[in-house]
Amino acid sequence: MLMGGDELEPLSGNCGFDALDWEMLANGGVRSLPIDLGLQDGLQIASDAYVSPVSSSQACTCDEDVSNIVRNLGRAEMSHDIIHMLRTGVSLTDRLLTCPICYDVSKPPRVTVQNVLLVGQLMLEITSGYQKYLHWLNKHCAELDARNESETVYLDPGIGIPSELSLQISGEKFRDLVMHGLETDAERLLALGKEFEQRQRNRHRVGHETCPDPEGRCRRKEHDPLDLCPQNPAARKLVPCFRIVDEVQGMIKEVADAVVNESHV
Ligand SMILES: [Zn+2]
Ligand SMILES: [Zn+2]
Ligand SMILES: [Zn+2]
Repeated sequence: MLMGGDELEPLSGNCGFDALDWEMLANGGVRSLPIDLGLQDGLQIASDAYVSPVSSSQACTCDEDVSNIVRNLGRAEMSHDIIHMLRTGVSLTDRLLTCPICYDVSKPPRVTVQNVLLVGQLMLEITSGYQKYLHWLNKHCAELDARNESETVYLDPGIGIPSELSLQISGEKFRDLVMHGLETDAERLLALGKEFEQRQRNRHRVGHETCPDPEGRCRRKEHDPLDLCPQNPAARKLVPCFRIVDEVQGMIKEVADAVVNESHV
């Protein structure tokens, strides 16, 4: 992979993305990130270019935990159980967003860039996991109805003992039930997307708090032309952090739309 590209160099002073990250984004963004172990190689190349982000005494396990979830999701056979794994992934995203070690804001952005990539990668895996599950659920429930079979749902008897109380319901009704249940998941994903957006916005506002000046210009005089002021409308498209945020929010919206529209038909 081409590592050079003089015209891309100024970005590394902006928010820590080097030419490799930029090239990856140019090739279609976070959706084109190599999945599973391939990602690790990509990040390895990226992080080799930096000073080690954290000393071994204060390392976190975010990176490793994301790899594990991605691997487990890749291996999992499709069943309702996948929801459990996806929710574990959502909790991990929550942790990535607030990790004081791999996202230590006192460090220069180039040191914390891996965390932003991890959030992007994890959200890609989670949202596509939900999409695959929804697809499977529709098929599964249609097949039940076609075979005139039903799904068993266990009710919590509410007295602290394992449930033996069950109901038999048709595929179609079962699907509705699950879709309503997933509305909570969709809300949580939407909230995480907003939190991610806010975090990167705050990060890039530093030094530009009072921009633009009355003439509509960035107040920070000495920076290279590609270090875009976040108040500049073009920043949305050109600053890699914002592009990842937008992609993540787009993927979340697709899941939320699928859940909400489907559960209110
Ligand atoms: Zn950034
Ligand atoms: Zn961390
Ligand atoms: Zn500015």
